[in-house]
Amino acid sequence: MTPAAAVRAAIPRDVADLLRALRSDGFGAYVVGGAVRDVIAGRVPADWDLATEATPDQLRSLFPNATYENRFGTVGVPTNGGMVREITTFRADSDSGDGRHPDRVTFLPRIEGDLARRDFTINAVAFGLAPGASRRADPVADGAIVDPHGGIDDLANGLLRAVGDPAERFVEDALRMLRAIRFVARFNLTVEPGTAAAIKRDAPLAARLSGERIGAEIEGILAAAHPARALQLAADLGIFAAIAPALAAEWNAEVGTRVEEVGNAALPDAPDPLGRMSELLQPIADDEDVAALLESWRRPRATVTAIQQIRALDRAVSVAEQEADRGNLDGAALRIVAAATTGDPRDAARQVRRRVAAGRAGRSAAALLSACTQGDEQQLPAAANDLAVGGDQLVARLGRAPGPWVAALLAQLVDDVAHRRVTNEKEKLLARSEQIVATEGRDPIA
Ligand code: ATP
Ligand code: MG
Repeated sequence: MTPAAAVRAAIPRDVADLLRALRSDGFGAYVVGGAVRDVIAGRVPADWDLATEATPDQLRSLFPNATYENRFGTVGVPTNGGMVREITTFRADSDSGDGRHPDRVTFLPRIEGDLARRDFTINAVAFGLAPGASRRADPVADGAIVDPHGGIDDLANGLLRAVGDPAERFVEDALRMLRAIRFVARFNLTVEPGTAAAIKRDAPLAARLSGERIGAEIEGILAAAHPARALQLAADLGIFAAIAPALAAEWNAEVGTRVEEVGNAALPDAPDPLGRMSELLQPIADDEDVAALLESWRRPRATVTAIQQIRALDRAVSVAEQEADRGNLDGAALRIVAAATTGDPRDAARQVRRRVAAGRAGRSAAALLSACTQGDEQQLPAAANDLAVGGDQLVARLGRAPGPWVAALLAQLVDDVAHRRVTNEKEKLLARSEQIVATEGRDPIA
């Protein structure tokens, strides 16, 4: 199938209707950017963006229910699918002071000018009909590809290339450097040498980007299919030195591969964004430094907490592997640690699998993993909540005043049940408690 035929076949009905509405008023009408790229790459686009020379005012009179999204000429048109499709007026961005937000836009008469402002050739391809085309022409059936920068060839050849002079493009907008890394990770691209040289030169500018934008791009990179080479590239080109100095200082050639192996499609926990994030930051030794970096990237509290839990659990697994090497294989204990750390005993097996995938696991990891998964399958208790008795019942049966001994005794019972020294039945556990208290004396475990 030709690229034009592929795009033609993929355009959703509501998008086709919008293109036809633009045509009926004589305007040029195109789909452009990420959607065209994704279809040609054989993927399902996340969103379809349209472009035309119609001004925002003209668009609003053509689509009365449209919302004006920003002062840069984008309107949102609600369509019957309950979606909002974005239509942008062909435009050129003026230079921006902060390397991010254009302070002025100029509307343009033709798509070619609009494509020239886009970041990479693979993102600078459009499909549709030009202003002034016959009104009888249908923008889908008669539409054509517009690809002045060779984006289709670059995509076929696996090349990421800046549109225009790469020496200017990252100074205009430093975010493009992180987008470059993300597209490399998503489409497994090689960066064209001139583009790579410009990124290397301009990488320090990435330090000025907002933490929020950086964090979102990093997550995009980690969610992609091929982060290994992309992350290595970010290190080689000096991106990490700009946005994550603590990581750059500890970087080694294995990190990218490890990240890619964690949460790869073949694993039971895939996708695994948190596992990948923690693997990326694993070279940083200090938990506080990791938290500070994630906070500077404006990641949610829950993410920071989850990463810290994974790091704590990873250390516990490492110790458990070493113990297992010495002959003390104890999956039950590891599941108890996992339950106490994250609230889910199955995170023990998850973390062993991550270490195995990343190639960081010890000799006994396989044995430890099967011990953990056995416990998961049999749903062996790993926390006090799993027990068939509660603290109140212990207090009543033993006739002692409540105190710290209750939690300690419950922990002892969890350990006993998890190691099959007693079954998880109320009477058995109460009897076991009496026995523990009797053998350990009057104030045994407070
Ligand atoms: P995604 O699949 O992540 O949405 P995308 O390429 O569609 O990728 P968007 O942020 O949706 O990215 O942007 C849509 C289009 O706008 C891009 O394909 C590109 O042509 C253009 N674009 C986006 N960000 C920039 C930028 N920083 N500089 C230049 N052009 C950009
Ligand atoms: Mg997009």
